[in-house]
Amino acid sequence: MFETRNHIDGRWVEGPSTLPDINPSDTREVIGEFAQAGEDQVPEAITAARRAQSQWQWSPPETRYGALMQIGNALMERSAEFGELLSREEGKTLPEGKGEVYRAGQFFTYYAAEVLRRMGDLTDSVRPGVEVLVSREPVGVVAVITPWNFPTALPAWKLAPAIAHGNAVVWKPASLVPASAAALMQIIEDSDLPPGLVNMVLGSGRTVGEALITSPDIDAITFTGSLATGRRIAEAAAVNLTKLQMEMGSKNPLVVVDDADLDTAVSCAVNGSFFSMGQKCTASSRIVVTRGVHDEFVARMQAAMDRLVIGHALEADSQIGPVVDEHQLARNLSYIEIGRGDGAELVCGGEPLERATPGHYMAPALFVGGDNAMRLNREEVFGPLTCVLRADDYDHALALANDTEFGLTSSIITTSLSRATHFRRHSRTGCVMVNLPTSGTDYHVPFGGRKNSSFGPREQGRHAEEFYTQVKTAYVSAGQAG
Ligand code: NDP
Repeated sequence: MFETRNHIDGRWVEGPSTLPDINPSDTREVIGEFAQAGEDQVPEAITAARRAQSQWQWSPPETRYGALMQIGNALMERSAEFGELLSREEGKTLPEGKGEVYRAGQFFTYYAAEVLRRMGDLTDSVRPGVEVLVSREPVGVVAVITPWNFPTALPAWKLAPAIAHGNAVVWKPASLVPASAAALMQIIEDSDLPPGLVNMVLGSGRTVGEALITSPDIDAITFTGSLATGRRIAEAAAVNLTKLQMEMGSKNPLVVVDDADLDTAVSCAVNGSFFSMGQKCTASSRIVVTRGVHDEFVARMQAAMDRLVIGHALEADSQIGPVVDEHQLARNLSYIEIGRGDGAELVCGGEPLERATPGHYMAPALFVGGDNAMRLNREEVFGPLTCVLRADDYDHALALANDTEFGLTSSIITTSLSRATHFRRHSRTGCVMVNLPTSGTDYHVPFGGRKNSSFGPREQGRHAEEFYTQVKTAYVSAGQAG
């Protein structure tokens, strides 16, 4: 039905080994055996990218616009088909899978339009008769390294601006989601992009990933994944002084204050903490509640969680699918024990679930009575676990929210404009929400975090040009005529 190979220099190619892609909703189903690239295939991909980029950088805006529109429209048209594939291999529910593929298409059509809007700057020099032109040029060959939790949208938000700004790409998708990667690569191949402009090398981080990040022939690396991998990539990039952009872990707080509308609070907390099994970098993994509404909030959360339907990702009534694989499930369950061991009280959930098909199912978990120093509240779990922290008042809640090594998103639920404004200005995160879940971001505005959540320029929207281009300043003497 679809290719299960690497894509290098415009061709689908085998690798020295293969890896099975397993459906986490039904582990009996093997979606495909995907070729793994060898380390020696990475330089081949980089050479192909370099060759294609040397032409693409001079391509006129309409050529880029046309190819990006083709890819974006194809993704939107095929969002039902590829969304189902995504849900089968990653485990998010069907509406989430389809919505993600559609959103991936929107990244491409957005950057298609941006290509036509690009402008430079022209000014007079301080020297008479001299003009200064400031323009942006591509960085060159970009290594794109992506995680498994958004198999289509996340590569799209890196590939689309890379191509739009005249770069070529060598892309290493996460090992757990090769089918969605191959589907996106097929759509890219079917477009008018030149062969070799986007190359896809499947394979592990230890082999293919390392070959990419240590290569002196890569001009820039964009990475989304865990903090530990990010630190390793930063080390490798430092050796070659490779330009770097990274989005990493998080411990996003949802703050609920005494004047909050509790229906909004509970709906945002359930959505932000548990949808997509909490496998979002923007998930609410801490909920800070002031004492006046703490007990009622917890009771309402428990009631809402009792109604959640956890099941096979493709079943119509499933609100939450399985965890992505057995390792992530084991990690989630270990944090249930870590939380309990540290003295937090498990209000509900946290146990493995059995369903009609064998899969990695678990009940979303709610803790109370913890403090912010516990490992449960400091380390990213990346699962459907959250802890309600009791705060004395708003100032205490804000202090708890900011007391973390991370800084991606935060949210406050309040009916007070002045409190919302104060929180927006004092929350130390890259994205702040008011009366909304901590998750859920747009594609036309910047996305990124502070502290250990991010490194380098912002992604998405126009801000992406900071990473995908380099600035040139040209001085031009008009001579006698000036
Ligand atoms: P990992 O860091 O384990 O992996 C991310 C990618 O890096 C994968 O493609 C992986 O390959 C690759 N990789 C691993 N080791 C190396 C290496 N030494 N050199 C080069 N590449 C390497 O993260 P996960 O895939 O497990 O994703 C979950 C993490 O991603 C969470 O911590 C989450 O917070 C973060 N994330 C952050 C987001 C943000 O915007 N801040 C958004 C989404 C996720 P392989 O698959 O083969 O291991």
